Amino acid sequence: MKVRLENLTKRWGSIYAVRDINLTVDDGEFVAFLGPSGCGKTTTLLLIAGIYKPTTGRILFDERMMNQVPPKNRNVGMVFQSYALYPHMTVYENLVFPMKLKRVSTAEMKERAQRVADMLGIAHLLDRRPGQLSGGQQQRVALGRALTKQPDLLLFDEPLSNLDARLRLSMRAEIKRLQIEMGITAIYVTHDQVEAMTMADRIAVMKDGMLQAFCSPDELYERPPTLFIAGFVGNPPMNFIEVEVVQRDGVYHAQRPGFDLPLLPERGAQAAGRGRVILGIRPEDVAIADEGIAGEVYVVEPLGRDDLIDVRIGDTHVHVLADPTLNLRLGDPVTLRFNPKKIQLFDPETERSLLWT
Ligand code: ATP
Repeated sequence: MKVRLENLTKRWGSIYAVRDINLTVDDGEFVAFLGPSGCGKTTTLLLIAGIYKPTTGRILFDERMMNQVPPKNRNVGMVFQSYALYPHMTVYENLVFPMKLKRVSTAEMKERAQRVADMLGIAHLLDRRPGQLSGGQQQRVALGRALTKQPDLLLFDEPLSNLDARLRLSMRAEIKRLQIEMGITAIYVTHDQVEAMTMADRIAVMKDGMLQAFCSPDELYERPPTLFIAGFVGNPPMNFIEVEVVQRDGVYHAQRPGFDLPLLPERGAQAAGRGRVILGIRPEDVAIADEGIAGEVYVVEPLGRDDLIDVRIGDTHVHVLADPTLNLRLGDPVTLRFNPKKIQLFDPETERSLLWT
């Protein structure tokens, strides 16, 4: 099922929780709503579920206007951070509960519950109560309960936040696999960029109730449309360096005291003559090489597979991922090679990427 939000706005008094959002989630697509706490992700999800009513704007399911349709008639499955299972019911009773409300026959309920329980690996737990399950098992039951009613749309609100890191990883993969297998349209709210990047077909980035971008994880990573997204997506985060772009002997250079970097023509041309611009580069796109920009090792942070090296260049610092076998020490002189294809340039006033113009 396709979900369309048109000029969707939700206001509480003078506070805009969601402001003029326009986007379409395609049939069978997995879309993540990503953004920091308070940016309006949950409010948008609850508007789609029908739990909140929009202040203005429209919500359409397959071109059907849904604004006035009560939540129980939207055929939406929801999975929350708190598992919200019924504590006095067994796993089986929890799984079939939504179907009872829809008057599904007992035989059909049994069959669907068994199928979902098999899929989620919880078939051996059907007689237990939620209190006798681990957090991960409870979250599987919550997911199962959302699936047994065969929803047209799955809505997730930070469903993995209460799980430990290893379990989060396996549940992430499982939710993604199930969603593809069942072909159900899914919207997944998270503030965790890794979750959004790994699970979603497209990511809607929100900030202050507004949509900042709606694009694929690749695009978001490779060509972030705003400075906020560039800093928010990716770990360790992108380096930002204030530069001026000038043309010398037919080549564009990004420069500041002690720093001079030739740019690819199409990138340089966007930024030349604008005065101050912000150059962005990810730590993995800067290499310690035989020649390049000279600096000095300021801090070494071992991350396991790589070392994160803070290199001081004049009055600025650049983080670089380096091979631990280089054994870099504080004060070592190094030269840095910036991958020219990975350089981002932003307007410091509008905070928009200059590569999208
Ligand atoms: P989090 O990740 O912390 O849950 P979020 O991005 O989901 O954050 P929302 O819960 O959608 O954010 O809240 C968006 C804004 O709307 C916040 O500023 C919040 O304080 C405000 N807000 C949410 N619900 C209400 C409400 N019932 N009454 C007044 N303000 C609200």
